[in-house]
Amino acid sequence: MKVTFPHMGHMWICLKAMLQYLGVEVVVPPSCSKKTLTLGTKHAPEFACMPLKLNLGNFMEAYELGADTIIMAGGCGPCRFGYYAYSENEILKDLKYNFNLIVLEPPEKHFSEFLIKIKQITGNRSWYQVIKGIRFGFLKAKAVDEIERLSFKIRPRELVAGSTDMAFQQALAEIDRAKTPQELIINIEQAKNIMSSIEIDQIKPVLKVGIVGEIYTLLEPFSNQNIERLLGKLGVEVDRSIYLSEWINDHLFMGLIKKMSNREETCRAARPFLNHFVGGHGEETIGSTVLYSEKGYDGVIQLLPFTCMPEIVAQSILPKVSEKLGIAVMTLIVDEQSGEAGLLTRLEAFVDLIAQKKKQKEALA
Ligand code: SF4
Repeated sequence: MKVTFPHMGHMWICLKAMLQYLGVEVVVPPSCSKKTLTLGTKHAPEFACMPLKLNLGNFMEAYELGADTIIMAGGCGPCRFGYYAYSENEILKDLKYNFNLIVLEPPEKHFSEFLIKIKQITGNRSWYQVIKGIRFGFLKAKAVDEIERLSFKIRPRELVAGSTDMAFQQALAEIDRAKTPQELIINIEQAKNIMSSIEIDQIKPVLKVGIVGEIYTLLEPFSNQNIERLLGKLGVEVDRSIYLSEWINDHLFMGLIKKMSNREETCRAARPFLNHFVGGHGEETIGSTVLYSEKGYDGVIQLLPFTCMPEIVAQSILPKVSEKLGIAVMTLIVDEQSGEAGLLTRLEAFVDLIAQKKKQKEALA
């Protein structure tokens, strides 16, 4: 069995770690690229969400590298994600790509439902080993998130342009390289050292922007054209409303790990504006915008793929949130036509706007 999975940001590092730790052969698809998107767009229904098109492209590229089994998250609720994996599999079958499909549905009652799915892939491994493998993958997800958070803080303050991007890639490679939890402890330290060796201007004033929206578009840099990097270079410190390790804890571990920021808290913050589930991360988009405003952020950017239903609902509510809480909000919709130049122009305009607003606020204070 040669297992592959779709790309979603740096998720490949933790999935690869978990599977290899459990003795499963892994084929990591090439990073998302124009080629991936072209392949997916050619064979997906026209109005499918962009993540589906990129997933399809990932699988086709992985198949060429020998993959024969797909693992993918499933879902439920009013948006299309619930039948994503199955429709992708049908399209692939029509194209004569013969994959086995394993869907990791979010457990309904107990974490053990998730364990049973993983055991399907790892066969004769003991339960103890399976739990250790999952834990190892999760530790890597947490490490990647920690390093990424550091990069968000450092990038707008870097003295040498591009030094954060270079160090971040080296730090990720350190985390990817660890083969055991013991090794990972050492490599995390090494990764942090790499990040702290970047020269920065400690006292440079920076703007702060929270990025909210649909999970795939938030986590996959190809789909958002590296928005965090572009903003960092414009002197903006960013934070993301969703990190992979938090998503795993909320949706696959059913909040087993306390002390991590969780969706319940975010959804509570959304209540004055939206108080029911609308699918995907629509509720979190509203709740996170409220929380960013409370934390004194200068602005919020919502990201969504063209036709994403939960985020369209959230988009229609955000102007009210912005008006009531006085926080600047911009929505960016991405699709296969989006280009970096257009995005950069809009980001520059938004950053100018929030810089002006901040100056006015400071003048009045
Ligand atoms: S959350 Fe949005 S992009 Fe994701 S499957 Fe649902 S509708 Fe599509």
